[in-house]
Amino acid sequence: MRCLVTGGAGFIGSFLCERLIADGHEVICLDNFFTGRRANVEHLLDHRHFELVRHDVTEPILLEVDRIFNFACPASPVHYQYNPVKTVKTSVMGIIHMLGLAKRVRARLLQASTSEVYGDPQVHPQTEDYWGHVNPIGPRACYDEGKRVAETLCFDYHRQNAVDVRVVRIFNTYGPRMLLDDGRVVSNFVVQALKGEDITLYGDGQQTRSFCYIDDLVDGIVRMMNQIETHGPVNLGNPDEFTIRELAELVIELTGSRSRLVQRPLPKDDPVRRQPDISRARAALGWEPKVALREGLLRSISWFDSRLRETS
Ligand code: NAD
Ligand code: UDP
Repeated sequence: MRCLVTGGAGFIGSFLCERLIADGHEVICLDNFFTGRRANVEHLLDHRHFELVRHDVTEPILLEVDRIFNFACPASPVHYQYNPVKTVKTSVMGIIHMLGLAKRVRARLLQASTSEVYGDPQVHPQTEDYWGHVNPIGPRACYDEGKRVAETLCFDYHRQNAVDVRVVRIFNTYGPRMLLDDGRVVSNFVVQALKGEDITLYGDGQQTRSFCYIDDLVDGIVRMMNQIETHGPVNLGNPDEFTIRELAELVIELTGSRSRLVQRPLPKDDPVRRQPDISRARAALGWEPKVALREGLLRSISWFDSRLRETS
């Protein structure tokens, strides 16, 4: 298969490119390098089945491909709120261009949607049939609503134009290759702990998230693309739920850091609880995460530690 991975030089995209190459596919990695890095795919550049294209998904592009993995979009609140109008354009115009391409070349398309479509959820854990609780005009809306419209377009192109779509709703995922200054909680805490800096708990740290290690996620994505039974949406995430304070304490323990916990104001509209119900992924994909938080953090800490040494 010839696979297009938009956002392929980013955190998740780069691991996906690697996996697709390992599975024997040809990969075109497309990225505008807003939050992605050439270094994330440097080791693939000489591979005869790999091609890197600098392109912005808000502009159309024509490529002959069989599979499209649409991952282009900043995912950290710091990055997606930096230029919120551009974030909406990336999600909405990006998916229109990719669905148009899929329609024209008859490719199958998988959309990287998000647990943010559930907003600050009033149903717990979150099942795919929950419609969500999103503030449409708040600071997170550019990301949440952009992703919601992208899902709408996937299912409309499917019904109207028979485009073969797959939608996965990805819950908080972490691992190596996250940017050191990414702003998301795992990278922040690990970098702060390794540097001996204060660990910044937003609010009282009682809000929860469920953290999925990158290898597990990539496996779920590939399974979703390869099967023909369901178009989704399917939740992909690790159902083990932790408070942010528990995460901070675990990071301190695993790094042996002397960092202190300090409180900072809770960002507006920060979801209080989040945990995926993955019954659908279990049934439809035979998938469930294997890497526990402790193990995934140890692997990530060792990577962040080397990165910090390289950059200091
Ligand atoms: P990331 O920021 O590392 O990756 C995003 C990639 O998209 C980067 O390489 C960036 O340069 C590229 N990009 C951004 N705007 C673009 C544009 N206009 N044109 C072309 N490329 C563009 O983030 P990530 O964590 O790897 O997330 C990848 C995808 O997965 C995103 O769509 C995100 O919404 C989704 N997702 C991630 C998580 C998570 O926890 N990591 C959770 C839910 C959904
Ligand atoms: N968070 C925190 N300290 C940080 C970064 C994030 O306490 O330095 C909190 C944040 O308020 C949120 C949770 O960690 O409740 C997850 O934040 P992240 O930005 O990683 O992802 P999202 O909110 O999109 O799930």
